[in-house]
Amino acid sequence: MLFGSHISTAGGVDKAFKLAESLELEVMQIFTRNQNQWNPKPLAGDVISRFLSERDRTGISPVFSHGSYLINLCSTDETTRERSELALQDELMRCDLLEIPYLVLHPGSHMGQGENLGIEKVARAIDRVFSHLPDGNAMLLLENTAGQGSNLGYRFEQLAEIRDQVEQKHRIGFCFDTCHAHAAGYDMLTEPACRGVFEQVKQILGFENLKVFHFNDSVKPLGSRVDRHEHIGKGSLGTCVFGYLLRKREFKNHPMALETPKSPDYHEDRENLAVLKSLISRKR
Ligand SMILES: [Zn+2]
Ligand SMILES: [Zn+2]
Repeated sequence: MLFGSHISTAGGVDKAFKLAESLELEVMQIFTRNQNQWNPKPLAGDVISRFLSERDRTGISPVFSHGSYLINLCSTDETTRERSELALQDELMRCDLLEIPYLVLHPGSHMGQGENLGIEKVARAIDRVFSHLPDGNAMLLLENTAGQGSNLGYRFEQLAEIRDQVEQKHRIGFCFDTCHAHAAGYDMLTEPACRGVFEQVKQILGFENLKVFHFNDSVKPLGSRVDRHEHIGKGSLGTCVFGYLLRKREFKNHPMALETPKSPDYHEDRENLAVLKSLISRKR
């Protein structure tokens, strides 16, 4: 696994590399735009060129992006749905400008419309966005969710169904968040249980479509459907799944990102990365 973390881009996307470098990261996740705004400033040309040269200087690659939490492609509010499509299009364009290969996105919240209609609307919205970007390179990675409220994507089948309904399937992959899977009820507390869950991932999502991991422990218990990230080994998920994934041959070159709580100096990331590294060689 390639070690990474979600790194702040306060002050500009090109600023994240210095911090990632100081944490000895191999990969990182960033936001390419302000998460709380529908219409953030476009990326300036000099920021783009500094980003690319910092990437080359540090060798931190791939960098991948997480989409805005404002986006809900199946919102019942027409204005929000339209803004969401425009925001997704803008996010994908930013990824291409920054040569970012993956954009991670939460599938959406059906807001009472029902899961099947929600899934259909998300797929149609993605179709429209892709049709506006015929030459786009960045892949859209649907992230599994904890299933809070009416969030879609807490079952692997739902993620697979969205991909199935999208016309340009080759532009869709998946991101696996350990905290979300645990909260959604996937038991990964023991090695045999992990094998069972990742057999389902293989069968339903396909390892070839699984591009990125989010490594988070969970504050809330198995099946709670509540999304609260905890430091590695300090929550109700424990370390078993992380050791399992870090030792799994098929994921040897997969990028991961910590999305655990962080102070401005990121010392928690150093501690979490040390815990993960200690799990690689540990005997079961
Ligand atoms: Zn996410
Ligand atoms: Zn995540």
